Amino acid sequence: MKLDLEYKYLVVGAGFFGSVIAERIANKLNEKVLVIDKRSHFGGNSYSYKDEKTNIEIHKYGSHIFHTSNKEVWDYLSRFTKFNDYRHRVYTVYKDRVYTMPINLDTINSFYQKNFSPEEAFEYVKKEIKENYTESPKNLEEKAINLIGKDLYKAFIYGYTKKQWATDPKNLPANIITRLPVRYNYNNRYFKDKYEGLPVDGYGKLFEKILSHKNIVLKLETDFFDIKEELSSCIKVIYTGPIDRYFNYRYGVLGWRTIDLDIERVPVDDYQGTSVMNYAEAEVPFTRIHEFKHYHPEREQAKHETVILKEYSRAAGTNDDPYYPINTQNDKEMYAKYLADSKNEKNVIFGGRLGLYKYLDMHQVISMALNVFKKQIAIQK
Ligand code: FAD
Ligand code: UDP
Repeated sequence: MKLDLEYKYLVVGAGFFGSVIAERIANKLNEKVLVIDKRSHFGGNSYSYKDEKTNIEIHKYGSHIFHTSNKEVWDYLSRFTKFNDYRHRVYTVYKDRVYTMPINLDTINSFYQKNFSPEEAFEYVKKEIKENYTESPKNLEEKAINLIGKDLYKAFIYGYTKKQWATDPKNLPANIITRLPVRYNYNNRYFKDKYEGLPVDGYGKLFEKILSHKNIVLKLETDFFDIKEELSSCIKVIYTGPIDRYFNYRYGVLGWRTIDLDIERVPVDDYQGTSVMNYAEAEVPFTRIHEFKHYHPEREQAKHETVILKEYSRAAGTNDDPYYPINTQNDKEMYAKYLADSKNEKNVIFGGRLGLYKYLDMHQVISMALNVFKKQIAIQK
C-alpha cells in the first residue's frame, strides 16, 4: 500500500485532536486525509456508545463531561451536535458519610458539624491553615494544607490522591490540586466554565459526524508502527500517539497512570443517585463509581436496570492505556529530550495528550487542534 500516492495527510489517532484536524483538512483544504486508529472504534478516550438494552450512554473510558469557556470550541462542536443541560456535581464518601465536592460551604459545615456563614467558615479554615502553613509549598500536601488546613486535607484529599497516583502526596507536584477549587458558598458545581453539557446522542455519534466527510478515509485496528515503513517522506503525519513510543523509547519510558474500569449491570433503577461518587478513604480500593444514567435525564432509559463503573488506578505498563502523565522530574527531563527530537521530524506534527505528554481536557485538545490547523497546516498549503 503506497499511502502517499492517494493521501497527502495521515492522521494517527481518531481522538479529538486527530479527528478535528482531519475534519479541518477535509473541509477547509478539500484534501484527502487518511485517519488510522489502532483501536476498533474512533473517539479515543472520549468515546461513548448507547447500550441498546437500556438506552444508557456508556462512557467506555470513564465519565467525560464537556465544559469550556472558549466560544470558538463550543461553536465548532455545536455544528456536529446539540448538548443537553447536564451540570456536573460530584459527591464523596468519607467514613460512611456523603459530602459535596469540590470542598464548599456545605462540605465544611457538614464536616465540622457547624452552621457557619461564608465569613465564619473562611475565618475558621484560615485558623486551621495557619497551624500548619508552609511558606513556599513544594508539593501537593503542603499546597493543599495551605488551601484548606490539615483536617479537611486528611479527610478529602490525602487518601483519594494517594490512591489515584499511588504516590504519597508529599512527592506529587503542587499544581495537581489547583484543578480543584475551594468555595465559601454553597455552589457545588464541579466546573465553572461558561458552557457545559453532554452531546445528546453521545460522543460516538459526535465523532461519526465529525469524521463523515468524503475526503476522510478511516481505518480502524491499524497501528501506525505497522505501516510506517510504507510511508514516503513527503506525506504529512499528524501523530497523536505516545511520543516516547514514536522514538522507540530511546530515552526511556515516560511515566503514566492507567485505570482499570469494572463495568457492572445492577438490577435497580438508581444505584447511587448521582453520576459520580468519589471514595475518599485510602482503604477503599476504587477511587470512584460512575453511574451513566444520570448523564442523560432527558432520555427514556430502562427503569429496571442501571450501569455502573468502578474505577481503579495503577501504574501503566507499555501495553496499558496511558491516562494521567505522572510528570516526575525524571519524566520532565526525558520529555524535554523527546520534544527536542520531535522538532527535527519535519513532516510530523505531534499533538494531543499522548503526543505532548500533558493532561489535557477535551476542550483544550480541540482548541489546540484548531490552532495547529490554522498555524501549521493551512498556512503551508
Ligand atoms: P485520545 O483520546 O487518547 O486519542 C488518541 C488516539 O490515538 C487513541 O484512540 C489511540 O488508540 C490512538 N493511537 C495511539 N497510538 C496509536 C498508534 N500507534 N497507531 C494508531 N493509533 C494510535 N476531559 C474533559 O474535558 N472532561 C472530562 O470529564 C474528562 N474526563 C476524563 C476522565 C478520564 C478518566 C481521563 C483519563 C480523561 C478525561 N478527560 C476529560 C480528558 C480527555 O480524555 C482528553 O482530553 C482527550 O481524550 C484527548 O484527546 P486526544 O485526541 O489527545 O487523545
Ligand atoms: N482530588 C481529591 N479528592 C477528590 C477529588 C479530587 O483529592 O475527591 C484531587 C486528586 O489529587 C486529583 C485532583 O484533585 O488528582 C484533580 O481532581 P479531578 O477531579 O480534576 O481529577 P480527574 O477528573 O482528572 O480525575
